[in-house]
Amino acid sequence: MARLRTLLIALLTVVGLGVAACAAPSRAEQPDFQAWLQDLRREAAAAGISQATLDAALSDVSPIERVIELDRRQPEYTQTFWSYLDKRVTPERIARGRELLVQHRALLARVQARYGVQPRFLVAFWGLETNFGQYTGGYPVVGALATLAYDERRGDFFRKELLNALRILDEGNVTPSAMQGSWAGAMGQLQFMPSTFVHYAVDFDGDGKRDIWNSLPDVFASAANYLSSIGWRGDLIWGREVRLPQDFDWEMAAQEVRKPVSAWAALGVRRADGGPLPQADIEGSIVLPAGHTGPAFLVYDNFEAILTWNRSLLYALSVGHLADRLVGAGDFLAQRPAEEKPLSRGEVEEMQNLLVRLGFDPGTPDGVIGAKTRAALRAFQRGRRLAPDGYPTPEVLQVLRDAAQQGSGAG
Ligand code: CA
Repeated sequence: MARLRTLLIALLTVVGLGVAACAAPSRAEQPDFQAWLQDLRREAAAAGISQATLDAALSDVSPIERVIELDRRQPEYTQTFWSYLDKRVTPERIARGRELLVQHRALLARVQARYGVQPRFLVAFWGLETNFGQYTGGYPVVGALATLAYDERRGDFFRKELLNALRILDEGNVTPSAMQGSWAGAMGQLQFMPSTFVHYAVDFDGDGKRDIWNSLPDVFASAANYLSSIGWRGDLIWGREVRLPQDFDWEMAAQEVRKPVSAWAALGVRRADGGPLPQADIEGSIVLPAGHTGPAFLVYDNFEAILTWNRSLLYALSVGHLADRLVGAGDFLAQRPAEEKPLSRGEVEEMQNLLVRLGFDPGTPDGVIGAKTRAALRAFQRGRRLAPDGYPTPEVLQVLRDAAQQGSGAG
């Protein structure tokens, strides 16, 4: 679901779900669906898409209620590192991935030679996106996209995706009935959005069709072409688990803080097993997906490329870790907490409201942890002489409650 999730998360982070919830469609001002569809047909025809394709793709299209339901769904709790990881990097998936890496070795090597992406990463993306092609989504892509394009919430974005989907059909890559995907229109074994398909999908088996549903040569080459286009480096790893020194300055654990590996080494950062960092002439950042008491990672440029595919930090760490596991690496060395305590949306919103009351700026309180909330939390932690990791926990929430009661603010 490359690209779409980036947009969704950006939207949720910036606009906030409070606003999104208020923007439920008022259909009174909307043209009815058939009139809307006629207008879309005119736009598609003007863009050069044939009448035959438009007839085949749009004749039986109607809005899908379930798609709207799924689009309005909001997670009840924040996602935590270990539970996210354990659901995605499972022993079964590691074992299956290793088999597939062997089974498709020759093909993956040809794709690597052409696009410079290591086979383990292609198989890891494949495993996380669709469990190696098993769950590609059973929604008709045109119907799902038409539903979301007609809906007012993010209509403009999905209208463009729908036009791209029609273009893909018009090129003869796939038939309308075989063009299946997720409820949000992410297609095939790597869940490409139509716009990603249009720009990056590749006909690697040379049959004249770009087929990311059924052709593994096309699937792998399309993913590799996309990754290399967004800055993947075939000579680098994604990053590694590290051990931080006792006196580490938590303010430096942020993706925007980039330093040469040698500089991190000079600050006392070591491999997770205690060994010295490699002498590599590259830059990286320290990320703490579970706050300062959790595991730490030093991540490189390829990590940024994974984040371009999908903006979620936990997703990116899962891709990197699964790729490592496929070629024999073990589990992370950091100690697992006895239990992880996710915050509910209500608790996150309470945290944000308390930060506002104490004079910080977490953005509009919306129950969603975004960059502004993390920055405000760091500022609060700094003032209280807590480890400023910007990571929300029940403990930090309690400190915020106490601070608000005492009326002690920022500064
Ligand atoms: Ca093909």
